[in-house]
Amino acid sequence: MKKFLSILITLFILAFFFGCSPKKESTNQFIAMDTYMELKAYGHHSKKAIDLATDEINRLDLLLSTGNSESEISRLNSLGYGYVSDDTSYIIEEALLLGSDTNGALNIAIYPLMELWGFTTHNYSVPSKSSINNILPLTRLDNIIFAKETNTIILKNGATLDLGAIAKGYTSDRVIDIFRKEGINSAIISLGQNVQALGRKPNGKLWTVGIKNPDTNDKRLGNKDIIGTLSVEDKAVISSGDYERFFIEDGKKYHHILNPSTGYPANMGLTSVTVVSKIGILADGLSTALFVMGKDDALEYWRNHKKDFDAIFIEKDGKITITEGIVDCFSSELEYEVGH
Ligand code: ADP
Ligand code: MG
Repeated sequence: MKKFLSILITLFILAFFFGCSPKKESTNQFIAMDTYMELKAYGHHSKKAIDLATDEINRLDLLLSTGNSESEISRLNSLGYGYVSDDTSYIIEEALLLGSDTNGALNIAIYPLMELWGFTTHNYSVPSKSSINNILPLTRLDNIIFAKETNTIILKNGATLDLGAIAKGYTSDRVIDIFRKEGINSAIISLGQNVQALGRKPNGKLWTVGIKNPDTNDKRLGNKDIIGTLSVEDKAVISSGDYERFFIEDGKKYHHILNPSTGYPANMGLTSVTVVSKIGILADGLSTALFVMGKDDALEYWRNHKKDFDAIFIEKDGKITITEGIVDCFSSELEYEVGH
């Protein structure tokens, strides 16, 4: 009997250490970067990993927020030049590369236009055409003189920066890095419409990410909150749309993703773009840029960068198009086309 008991205890201990015990779940929900965030991680060190990740998000918020006059980016904007941290420097470097790669559709010098439209203060109003034309030269990307070797930046001609299109993607990459370092191999985080998955669910199945319905009043998109789901592992799934932040004036909707070449809200027939990629900063930057480009140019861009990302486009006429790399992991009750 004694022998039987000691075998049983040994088996229990072995089962515990070799992962047969349910994995410990740790979560946190909070507001940062003006966004509702949820972090969920599994594993013995998940509590510590979640705490470290929360600290990291708050640290990056303090660096990157234009809404905080003490942030590094606000100081840079008010001085017009300066030395920045490695984080800010890396984000600016990536944003400028993506900016030139997308013909300026992603433009981190957009801040003066965001101010003009009132998106920075919530004091919205449609500007006059002449005031937009006066501001447009400030938003030229060649106003940004960036020396990556020394992390120094000069903003010419009164230019100011806004990293809002890309900062949360960078942040989710950093969170996943922290999780990995803490030995976590199963986690999912959502920083608003930015979702990033690490590994698979603790039960070995893929993570399911819902794709938000940009217009529940549009019968063609069904009346559910989501238009479909993606099953993923080790991927960022990041959406940009005209439904996130907008105001209505004289019955017309004006949203927060601006076309840098016109100075007006991007109006290329899309209501939502979702980008799926292993890299969060790329997915975030591209979700904004492809939204500005419109579906045809976006599909052309994807054809030249197929190995880096896939995408889901939803158009104003209710049409849904997905790129061929996610055919096997997308599921929807609605009709959709596959772009090749
Ligand atoms: P969200 O902020 O809702 O996650 P996005 O990632 O698409 O959505 O970023 C939109 C934000 O990016 C805007 O609020 C603004 O700060 C900034 N922005 C707007 N238009 C552009 C643009 N063409 N290029 C770069 N940044 C932009
Ligand atoms: Mg974005």
